[in-house]
Amino acid sequence: MEAVDATAYTVPTDAPEGDGTLAWESTTLVVVRAHSGATTGLGYTYGSPATVQAVEQHLAGVVTGRPVWDVPAANEAMHRAVRNTGRPGLVAGALSAVDIALWDLKARLLDLPLTRLLGACRQEVPVYGSGGFTTYDDDRQDRQLRAWVHGQGIPRVKIKIGGSWGGDAERDRERVIRARRSIGDTAELYVDANGAYTRKQAVRTGVFLAEAGVTWFEEPVSSDDLTGLGQVRAAVTADVAAGEYGYTLPYFHRMLAADAVDCLQADATRCGGITVWLRVAALAEAAGLQISGHCAPHAHAHAAACVPNLRHLEWFHDHTRIEQHLFDGVLDPHGGTVRPGEAQSPGLGLTLRTEAAERYRV
Ligand SMILES: [Mg+2]
Repeated sequence: MEAVDATAYTVPTDAPEGDGTLAWESTTLVVVRAHSGATTGLGYTYGSPATVQAVEQHLAGVVTGRPVWDVPAANEAMHRAVRNTGRPGLVAGALSAVDIALWDLKARLLDLPLTRLLGACRQEVPVYGSGGFTTYDDDRQDRQLRAWVHGQGIPRVKIKIGGSWGGDAERDRERVIRARRSIGDTAELYVDANGAYTRKQAVRTGVFLAEAGVTWFEEPVSSDDLTGLGQVRAAVTADVAAGEYGYTLPYFHRMLAADAVDCLQADATRCGGITVWLRVAALAEAAGLQISGHCAPHAHAHAAACVPNLRHLEWFHDHTRIEQHLFDGVLDPHGGTVRPGEAQSPGLGLTLRTEAAERYRV
């Protein structure tokens, strides 16, 4: 590998977005490019524009000059190099984006789709529509959910609940009932509280979620509260899911050891890239659980096709909008699955649309 560079693009949302515990009006995509001769690999993460400095100052020098074929060795070298900088959070995002770029580069050098390089378990990867922000009014939520289920035929969708840190139970209930009405009786309905509730609030919420046929209750309490996740899991009928803030492999081991979740989530753009995401999937498999890819769907699609215990990928409104706008080669979720590798493009099959991206460059 001869050089690694990074660029941040901050893209305004198409409407104010928020969940149970945070609100935002823009999202920053950080694109990493790894170069070998005339070939360039592309990886990315979502996070702070400061991720660019983390790549440039702490990681680029570690991977430059290494053999392009040995991605796990480069990943391990980056992991060791940031011991004192602090791996979780922003640095993990930077490391993950570099790792993804290295996998993309290797596959491009071999002229293979990444699914071929890794070895696929499946051709089709299920996705679920994810949005339903607490900041949306009823009409916007209805239009978004209908577009996924009735427009694109995606038979599973997720909305955010727990607005105002779980302070408005009546509105949560109304929004869930409206969501069920929008999608009909047969589509799966998921909710994500982003850690907004207390333990008992989450259990009480679980009662009306069951009435609305909700089958996925994400982060009912904070992911830091493994005991609480486990208690809610034991008390509600929906599957409890968490894992999006996992920045290291042992985090996922602890979550599984605590019996905290029914389905493990992991984010390849945070947990250490595709290298570590595949290991997280193996941990989940050994615990008898499925894995679901969190956000950034195009960073996950190929890896997701290569694990046997995949549940699905999150077709997150905020990220799919950016990826469709800024990348050529995006996947089509019609019918509720994507087919990574089908186009036979090498690597992840993505190309940055540099002209479209330029106006968002930080
Ligand atoms: Mg979530």
